[in-house]
Amino acid sequence: MTDYLIRNADVVVTMDDDRRELSGADLRLSGGIITEIGHDLHSNGEEVLATGCVVTPGLVNTHHHLYQSLTRAVPAGQDALLFGWLQTLYPIWARMTPEHFQVSAQIGLAELALSGCTLSSDHLYLYPNGTRLEDTIHAAAELGLRFHPTRGAMSIGQSAGGLPTDDLVEDEDAILADCIRVVDAFHDAAEGSMCRVGIAPCSPFSVSTDLMREAALLARDKGVMLHTHLAENQEDIDYSLANFGCRPGQYAQDLGWVGPDVWHAHCVKLDASEIALFAETGTGVAHCPCSNCRLGSGIAPLRAMRDAGVPVGLGVDGSASNDTGNLVAEARMAMLLQRVAQGADAMSAREALEIATRGGADILGRPDCGRLAVGKRADIAIWDVSGIEAAGSWDVAALLLAGPRTVRDLFVEGRQVVRDGHIQTIDLGAQIARQNQLAQALM
Ligand SMILES: [Zn+2]
Repeated sequence: MTDYLIRNADVVVTMDDDRRELSGADLRLSGGIITEIGHDLHSNGEEVLATGCVVTPGLVNTHHHLYQSLTRAVPAGQDALLFGWLQTLYPIWARMTPEHFQVSAQIGLAELALSGCTLSSDHLYLYPNGTRLEDTIHAAAELGLRFHPTRGAMSIGQSAGGLPTDDLVEDEDAILADCIRVVDAFHDAAEGSMCRVGIAPCSPFSVSTDLMREAALLARDKGVMLHTHLAENQEDIDYSLANFGCRPGQYAQDLGWVGPDVWHAHCVKLDASEIALFAETGTGVAHCPCSNCRLGSGIAPLRAMRDAGVPVGLGVDGSASNDTGNLVAEARMAMLLQRVAQGADAMSAREALEIATRGGADILGRPDCGRLAVGKRADIAIWDVSGIEAAGSWDVAALLLAGPRTVRDLFVEGRQVVRDGHIQTIDLGAQIARQNQLAQALM
C-alpha cells in the first residue's frame, strides 16, 4: 500500500481530545493509520499538497437506506407525512432486485464519499426478489468506503395491521436466522475493521415485540450493535401509545434497546425523561435534520440531548426523504435547525462538525475513527477552500457556514478514494447511467 504525506494544509481540524486546529501542518499515512502529525515532516511516499485546503477527519454517516437512491423525488411521495410516504413507496420498493440494491448502494456511497464521508452505516430492512445484505457489502468494498451495514427487517404486513405491503415482510424465524448468517459471514470486530454488521428491525411499528426482544438478545450474544427508527414524529408516538401503552423510550428500555451498543435514528420526539434515559445508558442517536424537514417531522432536541450527554451522530437518511446524500450539507442543516429552534448561539459550526465526525464514530463504536491523531485510522477529507464558495472567509468555520460542499481528496484506511474531485475506485459515470436506467424502468 502507498504511503502518503499530506503536506502543508492551511488548517488541520483534528477533532482530537484537545480539539486542536493546526496551521500549516502535515500528516503521514502508512499502513492504514495516521503515523505522524506535525510541521515540515520529511518526505517519503507520495506527497499530496494541501496548500489552500482544510483537512478534517472523514465524516461519519450513521443512518441511511442506500436502496432509496433509486426513488428520489417520487411525485406521489413528495409532500406526504411519514406513514403516507411509506405507503406510497412500499409497492415500488417491492419490485427491486439485487442489481437495484447493488447499484443504488454504490451511487449512495459515492455521493457520500464526495461530500467527505469515509464511514457509513446502512439500514436495509427489505429484501425483495432474492436480495441479500451482501449485495450492498460488495458494493461498498468495491468503492472502498468503511461500511457498517445493518440487517434490518419488517414482519408485520398490512393484513396483520402493519404498514408495509405483505410481499415485503418476512417470517421472524427466517429474519433471525439470516441475521446470524450475515454476522457470522461479514462482521469484523477488529480495530480498523472495514465492515461491521448490526441488527436492525425496521421500527416498532413494522415488527413484533417478540422480534425486538429476540434481536436484542441475539445482538448481545454476537457482540454486535443494534439500530432502529425511534420516536420519529407524532404519528410514531401515537402508534406507540395506542399499541404498546407507553412512549417509545419506555418500549425501548423494556425490550433491552438501550445501552452504548444501541443507536436510534431520528428521536425527534424524545421527551425530557427519554433524553435522561438515553444519557444515563449511553444510548446513541442518529440525527437526520434534512429528512425531518422534508417529512415535516419536527426539530429534534439536539441541543438538549448534547447538554444531557446523549451520544449523537449525523445521518443523511434515505434519499427518498432527503433527497440528497451530502453529509457536509447535513451538518450545516443540523447547525441551522438548532438555531431556528433555540437561537443563534444554539449550535456552532465547530460543534456540528464534531457531531459529524467523532460524534458519529463514537455512536458506531468506532473510537479508532472520526478524529485525526497518531494511531487512528487514516480516514481523511481534504477540502479545497481556495474556490468561490469559501472566498473571503476569515475562519475554518466557513466549511459549514459557507462551503465547499464536496471534497478535493478523500482517504479511507490510507487509500485514496477521491482525487481532485473524482472517484478513483469505480467507473462512476457508468454507474450513474445504470442507476438512471433502473429508475426509468421502475417509473
Ligand atoms: Zn430511516
